[in-house]
Amino acid sequence: MRTYKIAAIPADGIGPEVIEAGLEVLSALEKRDGTIKFDVETFDWGSDYYKQHGVMMPDDGLEQLKPFDAIYFGAVGAADVPDHITLWGLRLPICQGFDQYANVRPTKIIPGVSSPLKDVGVGDLDWVIVRENSEGEYSGHGGRAHKGMPEEVGTEVSIFTRVGVTRIMRYAFALAQSRPRKHLTVVTKSNAQRFGMVMWDEIAAEIAAEFPDVTWDKMLVDAMTVRMVKDPKSIDTIVATNLHADILSDLAGALAGSLGVAPTANIDPEKRFPSMFEPIHGSAFDITGKGIANPVASFWTASQMLDHLGEPEASARLMRAVERVCADGIVTPDVGGTATTSEVTDAVCEAIRREN
Ligand code: ATP
Ligand code: MG
Repeated sequence: MRTYKIAAIPADGIGPEVIEAGLEVLSALEKRDGTIKFDVETFDWGSDYYKQHGVMMPDDGLEQLKPFDAIYFGAVGAADVPDHITLWGLRLPICQGFDQYANVRPTKIIPGVSSPLKDVGVGDLDWVIVRENSEGEYSGHGGRAHKGMPEEVGTEVSIFTRVGVTRIMRYAFALAQSRPRKHLTVVTKSNAQRFGMVMWDEIAAEIAAEFPDVTWDKMLVDAMTVRMVKDPKSIDTIVATNLHADILSDLAGALAGSLGVAPTANIDPEKRFPSMFEPIHGSAFDITGKGIANPVASFWTASQMLDHLGEPEASARLMRAVERVCADGIVTPDVGGTATTSEVTDAVCEAIRREN
């Protein structure tokens, strides 16, 4: 028996709904396989915890998480707690504290899920966006002078390091190399930003030399948004900065049908610390408690978690079940269906049980 220790942090809004659904599916996989076991511990951190304790997680939160093999995360964000507190209080400290510098965001159009690209005749996509997850525009450097005065100045400094850019570039080229098309697009804004972005382009060329079998091209981020809509088939793997990839992956999620199907993995490629797996979407107050949250992003990120844990067969089995259920039209309202979260979850569990 192979046992994995999973820390579940459902947190806010629809987070608990989609994490509960994901844990049910993991349990169905456990039963189906017979040789894997998930030892899950759930942590009640998040905005409710903040309202009681004044912090999103305890001071020794990272120490508590360290012994786990992976973290399965829901969403943060509450109507009555400022966004910078929820984000900087829980999600970002985990990403940064565990040096999860590669954020990996696959995009596919799942059969049965309605996508705006279908209107222009594109029925499938297979992209992976690699987001630099440890520095860049979200380094937290900057400040404000003369606050509130007419002469006020605010700065938001992007920090790019040779170490940081080199490691994400090498990760992205290696990922592209493992995919059938072996193509990488390096996205920057190096026409307008002449320092850190030009360094990105230079380091890309250096690392490319280590991967002679990977083809690659460079693209400015503004042009990339157009290419994603107009020529989506030309894209395979993308690498971009923290901010650029954040924006491109929301666009990718929308092009694939809904944020409710888009997953993300925050990876420490060196496996010094647990990596964290989560849906891309936020807490979605507008549908919280209604039982209609799409659990597909949560299932898909669970499949990314299984791959990272070294269980590719269980991961593939889970995605086959998800694709079958979506193809049968058992999908939530955000992607044009009428099913509830629990109907989709039950159907996926059933598909896992039944597969030969
Ligand atoms: P954040 O600031 O955390 O990124 P956000 O304000 O961008 O959050 P989300 O919570 O991601 O917003 O939701 C954006 C929209 O997408 C909402 O209308 C929400 O209902 C919808 N949505 C997000 N996730 C899902 C889901 N799993 N199922 C159905 N709809 C979803
Ligand atoms: Mg958002």
